Amino acid sequence: MTTRNVGLYWFGNDLRLHDNVNLLKAASEVDELLCIYCLDPEWLLPNRYGLVMMSANRWRFLKESLLDLDKQLHQLGQHLVVCFEAPVNAISKLASAHKVSLIYRSRPTGYYENQQGLALQKQLPLVQFVETDTLGLYGLDQLPFPLAKLPNTFTQFKNIVEQLPVDQPLPPVDFLPSSPVLKTDWLNRFPDYLKLTSEAEQAIIFRGGETAGLRQLTAYFASGRASHYKERRNELDGWENSSKFSPWLANGNLSVRQICFNLNNYEQKSGANESTYWLFFELLWRDYFQWYAPLHGKQLFAFQGIKQQKPLTSFYPERFRKWCSGNTPYPLVNACMKQLNATGFMSNRGRQIVASCLVNELAVDWRYGAAYFEQQLLDYDVASNWGNWQYLAGVGADPRGKRHFDLDKQTRQYDPDGLFINKWQGGIQHLPLDSVDAADWPVVAG
Ligand SMILES: Cc1cc2nc3c(=O)[nH]c(=O)nc-3n(C[C@H](O)[C@H](O)[C@H](O)COP(=O)(O)OP(=O)(O)OC[C@H]3O[C@@H](n4cnc5c(N)ncnc54)[C@H](O)[C@@H]3O)c2cc1C
Repeated sequence: MTTRNVGLYWFGNDLRLHDNVNLLKAASEVDELLCIYCLDPEWLLPNRYGLVMMSANRWRFLKESLLDLDKQLHQLGQHLVVCFEAPVNAISKLASAHKVSLIYRSRPTGYYENQQGLALQKQLPLVQFVETDTLGLYGLDQLPFPLAKLPNTFTQFKNIVEQLPVDQPLPPVDFLPSSPVLKTDWLNRFPDYLKLTSEAEQAIIFRGGETAGLRQLTAYFASGRASHYKERRNELDGWENSSKFSPWLANGNLSVRQICFNLNNYEQKSGANESTYWLFFELLWRDYFQWYAPLHGKQLFAFQGIKQQKPLTSFYPERFRKWCSGNTPYPLVNACMKQLNATGFMSNRGRQIVASCLVNELAVDWRYGAAYFEQQLLDYDVASNWGNWQYLAGVGADPRGKRHFDLDKQTRQYDPDGLFINKWQGGIQHLPLDSVDAADWPVVAG
């Protein structure tokens, strides 16, 4: 009797069929395949910052991505198994029950996601793990330096890598071995309280999933906006000022190589200019953080970041609450935060402004801001979020130290007529920043 090779594909931030090297590998190497996504119940419990990791809107985008993936898998005679359980438990049970001999996944950038992989390998010593870098423009083996020698600054990194060729994206998977498990109705098992209010439903501007991501990819380059990207990328509001690829990239509905490939095609047809280069430049920023995160591991979440000295900030619960809800004395900051709360998105300029305000004007520990972004941002990405926050708080990869934005100047420059502040009702709150003595509040350790 011949033994059947059973594989398990562990989906993470790579919820797509296009340009997915590990899924292609699995398709050609095993006789049966389980396609798994694990929703860790911990994501819904308060974390050390008193926040949950996923807002209802983030969950909505993720759910749409999972449904879209499931639909596409269905066309290949497969389906997605969504487990509401910590991945190590869920996968080790499934792997043992179905005699899985190979587990495939994209190599994650975050420390805790990597730890999960290691814990699973310990529990399943006879299973072979296949992990490949698919989240960035290059694999580690394509970089001319080992991870430990990642340059200390983005500029050094960019100067080294920007001439390297980027691999073409792979074609979509068009065949998959069948699944050894039956389809279950996982959607109905999701906790109710994560439903969006009808007001929030109306504010939806991004739809999750590879299908929607590919639509945006085509629409963006067809619109010609890439030729004006640099002039408009700092605008605070509007669909057209930047690519809006980030939520799809963060969930892996799109790969960064697909974007790069489309950008190259666009440059060939419509001409390269400073703007098209700048879009690539921003993708390189993303790539820098994708290596920065695994290099620094747990330090990505540390108060002193990758530096030796802790910042002179603390935790002021009332200030933090006011910042989150957009009720600070700073109208521009309020407008940005209300935009984030309503839509799950904020421009890059807005993110810099509100982060600088939290750290400098409000003197709040930067990690609370990063954790709030993690909860709210549809495009939350562990590496880009915590890396950018460290940068702004002066504990990261910025040779210049802390960035302090002049809020009046930013308002004059980016919202001279007050249209943005008006739209998001950022208007001045005449409340004092502190109404209670916050001296006794605890500070999160380490
Ligand atoms: C405090 C702070 C937190 C952030 N958190 C995140 C996050 O969790 N997830 C995330 O994807 N981006 C994050 N960013 C980066 C950036 O703000 C967003 O990627 C960008 O605003 C998304 O909009 P877009 O896709 O239209 O970007 P575009 O301006 O069109 O840029 C194209 C792509 O380049 C990448 N990119 C652009 N700027 C940056 C940057 N500064 N760092 C890393 N990649 C970049 C993104 O993948 C983006 O989709 C953060 C920035 C700051 C200042």
